[in-house]
Amino acid sequence: MKTIDQIAAELQGYDPQALSAYRVNEFLARLVEPVPQSESVSVMDALGRVLAEDVVSPISVPPHDNSAMDGFAFDSRQMPPGKALTLRVVGTAFAGKAWQGTVGSGECLKIMTGAIMPPALDTVVPLEFVQHKDDAIALPPDVVQPGDNRRLLGEDLMAGQPALSKGQRLGPAALGLIASLGIPAVNVCRRVRVAYFSTGDEILSLGDESREGAVFDSNRYTVFGLLSRMGVEVIDMGVIGDDPVLLEAAFRDAASKADAIITSGGVSMGEADHTKAMMKKVGDVAFWRIAMRPGRPMAVGRIEQGEKSAVLFGLPGNPVAVMVTFLAFVRPALHRLMGCSGSESVLLKAHCAEPLRKKPGRTEYQRGIVFRSADGNLQVRTTGNQGSGVLSSMVQANGLIVLHHEQGNVAVGDLVDVMMFEGAL
Ligand code: AMP
Ligand code: MG
Repeated sequence: MKTIDQIAAELQGYDPQALSAYRVNEFLARLVEPVPQSESVSVMDALGRVLAEDVVSPISVPPHDNSAMDGFAFDSRQMPPGKALTLRVVGTAFAGKAWQGTVGSGECLKIMTGAIMPPALDTVVPLEFVQHKDDAIALPPDVVQPGDNRRLLGEDLMAGQPALSKGQRLGPAALGLIASLGIPAVNVCRRVRVAYFSTGDEILSLGDESREGAVFDSNRYTVFGLLSRMGVEVIDMGVIGDDPVLLEAAFRDAASKADAIITSGGVSMGEADHTKAMMKKVGDVAFWRIAMRPGRPMAVGRIEQGEKSAVLFGLPGNPVAVMVTFLAFVRPALHRLMGCSGSESVLLKAHCAEPLRKKPGRTEYQRGIVFRSADGNLQVRTTGNQGSGVLSSMVQANGLIVLHHEQGNVAVGDLVDVMMFEGAL
C-alpha cells in the first residue's frame, strides 16, 4: 500500500491547495485497492455483486442448431434462384425433443421455434410465406436466403469461452446468462463495509431536543441512501461531537470494522474543531482544497487500527457538497474497492435551456432537471438556487450538470454533460 506522500509524488502538478476534480479521481484510483476476498453465492444472491473471476461457459448456447421461427426446414441447395419450389412435408419437429427421421431430396420438415434442426437442413421458411396443401408446401421464389431463420450452435456463447469477466457488476441480464449456462453459483468479491458518521457540535440526531444554532443531521441519511444504492454493507455510527476522545474512539472503531470510513463536516480551512487533528493523529491523511463547486474541502487517506486500515473520505459538511463529492469521488472509489473494473459514471448530453456562468479553472456541478422539449430533444435547466446547503434542490433535480474544469460560460442551446441520478440516488 502506498502512503499519501508516495501517491502525491507520483502525480504531476499535485497541489493539495488547488486540486482539479480529475486529479482527485486519479489520486483515489491509486489509494484504493480492490478487496482481496471472495465468496461463492447462488445466482439469485448475486444481483449487484461483482464477479471475482471470469465465468467460463461450460456449454454452448444454444447447444444445437435450431429454428428461429415456426415454419418448414429444408436444404437450401435445392432452392432454384428466382423459381418457386414444391416440397413434401415428411414430419413435424417440436421444441424440446429431437425429431427422428431423415429428410430427403424434395422434402422438408415442419419445425417449431427452438426445435433442433436436423443436420442436413440449413434454412427455415416461416409458415406465413408458404402455401401448405395436403402434405406439400409451395415456396414462392426469393422469400428466404440460404441459412435464414436458423440459430447456430454456440451463437450466443461457445463452450470454453469467457461468458462474463472478472470485475463485472452483475445485473439482471448477467443473472439470466449465468443461469442459461446451468451454473448455480458464482464467486463474487466480498461485500464492502462502509462506516459513516457526522461530526459537529451543532448537529442534532433525530429525537434530540432542538436548540438555537443547531441543525438536524441530514448527511447521515443521504450518505446512508447513497451507500445502500451501491449495495455495500453500511455501519451507521451516528453523530460525533467535537470532542477529541469521542472522535478518536469513533475513528479507531470504524477502522477496525470497515473497509472505508465516510465522515461529514469539520474539514474546512477555518475549522477550529478537533476533527482534522484527530484524522492526522490516527491516520495518514491529506487535506485538500478542490477546484470545484460545491465541495472544496475534503480529507482523504487511511485510518489505521492495529493490523487493519480503512480508506477515509472526510467530506465537507454542507449537505449538497456531501452528495456531490460522494457522486464525483467516493462512488467511483468505492466501486474500485468493491472490485468493479469500470467505475466511470455515464454522462448524458443535453442542450442547456438557460445561460450558465462558469469560470474556467474549476469543475462545477449544478443541480439540473433534464426534460424532453417539444421538438423531442433532451434539454436541461437548473433548479435555480445553487447554494450548497439547499438540499431541497437535490430533491427537485434528476441529475448534476457537470461543467468541466476548463469549460467557460454556457449559452442557451449549448450541449452540456449531465450525470443522471437514476441508479445512484
Ligand atoms: P463544516 O464543514 O463542518 O464547516 O459544515 C458546513 C456547514 O454544513 C455548516 O453550516 C454545518 O452546520 C452544516 N453541516 C455539517 N454537518 C451537517 C450534517 N450532518 N447535517 C446537516 N448539516 C450539516
Ligand atoms: Mg463544522
